[in-house]
Amino acid sequence: MRGGIQNYTHTRKSGDRIPKLNEDDRALWDNGIKQPTSVRLLGMKPIVFTDLDGTLLNHHTYSFDAAVPTIEKCRRSRIPVVPVTSKTRREVEAIVRELGLSGTFAVENGSGIFVRRDDSDFAVTDAKIEDNYSCIQLGCTYTEARRGLRQLETAIASPLKGFGDLSVSEIQQLTNLPPAEATNARDREFSEPFVPPENIAPETIEAAAKNLGLRVLVGGRFCHLIGQNAGKGNAVRWLVDRYRDRYPEEKIVTIGLGDSPNDLELLEAVDRPIIIPGKTGRPHPQLGDRGWDIAPDVAPEGWAAAVERSLSDIA
Ligand SMILES: [Mg+2]
Repeated sequence: MRGGIQNYTHTRKSGDRIPKLNEDDRALWDNGIKQPTSVRLLGMKPIVFTDLDGTLLNHHTYSFDAAVPTIEKCRRSRIPVVPVTSKTRREVEAIVRELGLSGTFAVENGSGIFVRRDDSDFAVTDAKIEDNYSCIQLGCTYTEARRGLRQLETAIASPLKGFGDLSVSEIQQLTNLPPAEATNARDREFSEPFVPPENIAPETIEAAAKNLGLRVLVGGRFCHLIGQNAGKGNAVRWLVDRYRDRYPEEKIVTIGLGDSPNDLELLEAVDRPIIIPGKTGRPHPQLGDRGWDIAPDVAPEGWAAAVERSLSDIA
């Protein structure tokens, strides 16, 4: 399953111009009637890449109700909405089903990409087939991540507790997830979240992981040990290249939405990065000063408003 998918470096050319929609097109889009005319005439293919927790799903309630009409408009206009998340395949599958998305998504911080085999946007031929998906592994296997965790604790001389060392009820206590969802969060394929050790600087952990040929993403509640070539940015670039292969005559315009530093690579990989404000109503300090668009509200209302605005006023 591994191999051949490393270091995707395609980025938008700085001179690329993205045309504006006219007023008639915007009215059509606003009424949810069809894809904006100029998007079709100019051969543009917008693609929405989105984080889930705190971006599309409300930080506290995990609700996405306010985003459903916008997702429905995207579906009718054949605009892909692609989750790129730290969640596992089992966790994302349930959400994708409820949202009615096409079934293509990236999991475990861009460690693996799943393309449902009936997704007509793709013709993936060189991937492992699992259930109804083509599965592309960008990072390591879970066995390698677990082995890496043991090597990492030796390297930093501090014991580390990963999800594989914790029971479902212990994960529940740490995450506040209900039992079924904690079980899905523990059902891992590519990466290992672990509780950050006290009194060890994140930079020390990151450097030790790098020496082992792995990466650590430092989050608020957990650190994530992932493969060297995994990452939300690499996952987005791999997907964009496949969309370009599939739609060679169309101009791909990528919109990305995220709320926290682990979305930085995703936001840097898209044409239009949009920050969803955090619980405080403000963007995360590590994201807020980059000149990127900031959604007018928290998730899911802010997600819906920002996607609507982006798609009707691409400039
Ligand atoms: Mg998030």
